[in-house]
Amino acid sequence: MSGYNPTSITILGATGSIGQSTLDVIGRHPERFSVFALTAHQKIDRLAELCIRYHPVYAVVATAAQADVLRVQLQTAAVTTEVLFGEQALCDVAQDSETDAVMAAIVGAAGLRPTLAAAKAGKTIYLANKETLVVAGALFMQTVQQYGARLLPVDSEHNAIFQALPDNYQGNLEHAGVASLVLTASGGPFLHTALADFAAITPEAAIRHPNWQMGRKISVDSASMMNKGLELIEAHWLFNAAAEQLEVIIHPQSVIHSMVRYRDGSVLAQMGKPDMRIPIAHCLGLPDRIDSGVEQLDFTSLSGLHFLAPDFVRFPCLKLAYDVLHSNNPASSCVLNAANEVAVAAFLDRNIQFVDIASVVDNCLQYFSGQTASSIEELLQLDTRVRSVASAWIAGRSAG
Ligand code: NAD
Ligand code: MG
Repeated sequence: MSGYNPTSITILGATGSIGQSTLDVIGRHPERFSVFALTAHQKIDRLAELCIRYHPVYAVVATAAQADVLRVQLQTAAVTTEVLFGEQALCDVAQDSETDAVMAAIVGAAGLRPTLAAAKAGKTIYLANKETLVVAGALFMQTVQQYGARLLPVDSEHNAIFQALPDNYQGNLEHAGVASLVLTASGGPFLHTALADFAAITPEAAIRHPNWQMGRKISVDSASMMNKGLELIEAHWLFNAAAEQLEVIIHPQSVIHSMVRYRDGSVLAQMGKPDMRIPIAHCLGLPDRIDSGVEQLDFTSLSGLHFLAPDFVRFPCLKLAYDVLHSNNPASSCVLNAANEVAVAAFLDRNIQFVDIASVVDNCLQYFSGQTASSIEELLQLDTRVRSVASAWIAGRSAG
């Protein structure tokens, strides 16, 4: 085992799917890890349970009223965790000198500021919140470099690629002998649905992912394949990969989590059960391999490994993300993300159809084409403007 003191971890988004999987892995290794802070946005009862179990130094919620509720629950249980609230408190616990590492597992652009705060404080960052890189990839990667933060990819595809790249990978695929990075995608629940039936897709059907248990937003993104689009942009920043060096292949079984093609024709794939505790344990344990709680893969029980090319007619969101990647304009990537967040929320609220998600994003990309934004303030202002244009478009559509 490396080091003598347990790694003190802050989990941003502790009540979510990744947050829970992270705590499951941490709970298996009490000698290695301690919990510094846990944060939640809505599920206060769940956060109280987690504080009672893991005794963090801090718990962070969104509002003063939630903080009052949580304080009462913790006092009743005689837990001494200090309760904070608000966005600045998320940044404070991410950059506190007492925390070594931060699991960035808030969903959406809301995760950007606290993840950036962790980078500025030179922390080890386990990155699940892909939207941070989609909204502000250039700025975030520059901050990681400048402040000597350590960035480890949790997203299963990027973790697979990270495992299949050379250990000393320095950000130059050419030098590493890599021909391309191959992101696998399950194709989601609508891979074989007749296109004529897309208009009738319900939120319940969209969040029922065939292989993975995830939060609602990423489940809808997987169904539209916007998730793979966001992941292309994520891979671009993490591995310094150009659009031409990134491939997407549909692999419905989700056994291979992604691959690296080398110049000599070798292809290295990372495999395992579709359970996020595997990439989480990989990041947390580095350089050691630690128990994740996930069963070994039984090859004889697999029906086969299949692959097919993605279809842009079925999955227009993937095409939009490819276009954004090719445009080489970081502002477009911010527009793509904000419009998608609004559209997905509207679909989950039954205000638009599943097929309208791509239309909302496409309309916003056209409306904001030619925009530039580079500083965090400019990007966040653009994010806000896109959200209001997307919301207005949706309101007009619902009314019409
Ligand atoms: P989730 O919806 O299950 O959990 C989200 C967490 O973020 C919750 O703890 C919630 O309280 C918190 N949160 C939500 N809105 C917030 C806000 N405005 N401010 C502060 N906190 C807020 O989501 P998830 O599935 O765990 O995904 C989290 C992130 O990890 C996403 O970026 C997702 O793309 C990424 N990811 C998830 C998976 C997965 O299997 N779930 C896999 C790869 C990557
Ligand atoms: Mg993924």
